[in-house]
Amino acid sequence: MTIQSMINRNIKYLRPYNPGLFNGKYKLDANENSFDLPENIKIKIFKEAKKIEFNRYPDPYAEKLRSLISIKLNINKNNILVGNGSDELIYYLLLSFINKKDKVVVPYPTFEIYKILSEICGASVIEVPLKSGFDLDVEKMVDILKSNKIKFVFLAYPNNPTGNCFSKSAIKRILMEKDTFVVIDEAYFEFSGKTFLNELKKHKNLIILRTFSKAFSLAALRTGYMIASESIINIIKRVKLPYNINSFSQIAALNILKYENQIRKTCEIIIKERQKMKEKLEGLYYIPESDANFLFIKISKPDLLKKEFIKKGICVRFFSDVRLKNYVRITIGKSKENKLVTDILKKGF
Ligand code: PMP
Repeated sequence: MTIQSMINRNIKYLRPYNPGLFNGKYKLDANENSFDLPENIKIKIFKEAKKIEFNRYPDPYAEKLRSLISIKLNINKNNILVGNGSDELIYYLLLSFINKKDKVVVPYPTFEIYKILSEICGASVIEVPLKSGFDLDVEKMVDILKSNKIKFVFLAYPNNPTGNCFSKSAIKRILMEKDTFVVIDEAYFEFSGKTFLNELKKHKNLIILRTFSKAFSLAALRTGYMIASESIINIIKRVKLPYNINSFSQIAALNILKYENQIRKTCEIIIKERQKMKEKLEGLYYIPESDANFLFIKISKPDLLKKEFIKKGICVRFFSDVRLKNYVRITIGKSKENKLVTDILKKGF
């Protein structure tokens, strides 16, 4: 027996996930909020956290947090499930519903975790390239959905890494395919203001994901949630690890929602900065309209640009996939960071 011969076939050719990060002074590579939580909110979180009985397991269903989300979104609490980041909820979804040889459709390019987790769970993944301008090729997608049994379609809205929201009519068309679950990942919702939440009652196959990792500055504490029909949520509970969200994260997320207005101010700053940066680079590069906290920029000299960013200690996201060789994704940072980036890009790469 060798370890290699024992390996799960689904992960035989998989490599550990590489977020493509490199070390530097300015972190603009992971689409986090570049502003940390305000000090007054951190203090409130720590004060409450002091009361945690560290010897006790956390609330397995984050009841308080789900209640507050439910009030804020005007959605029944039973339609909400909290996870250790939305990543975990994607995993649970696939674990709950994928059988061997099931198929999953994703656009290309998109958030690569959909493909990785689908394959880990034994599904085969069909990638449908986005059209020029990065909108969905809805005709092709619908063709595939009609001629194959497809269990899931994953759509990031706005899309990562391209930054744009796909057209609403294209997504609505896909939602009409009732035998396929359509996951709309609204990780960057607070920057786009666009949502499919109001379609939830109409479409039983719709599943929405949100996260505290982006606009809400809570990437370190891994908290996300899913909104879906109660029957979907109840099935996922079968695979959910018993205590998936720790007590500290539950307290932090609750406080974020309590002080949402204050935190959301950073989104306004980031959106303004994004527009400013895009305008400054207009004409120099192709940059699709972004509804998120990052820009996706087409470049012709990626190696030279990478060297320049490394030299200045600026971390941005380049891609190992050759199809994205000529693109860089840059998270919008604080004003000073954005100026550093813009000054470099203005030299022409
Ligand atoms: N969805 C999308 C589209 C993302 O870009 C990311 C983060 N890169 C996630 C989900 C992951 O979010 P979380 O931190 O909640 O796991």
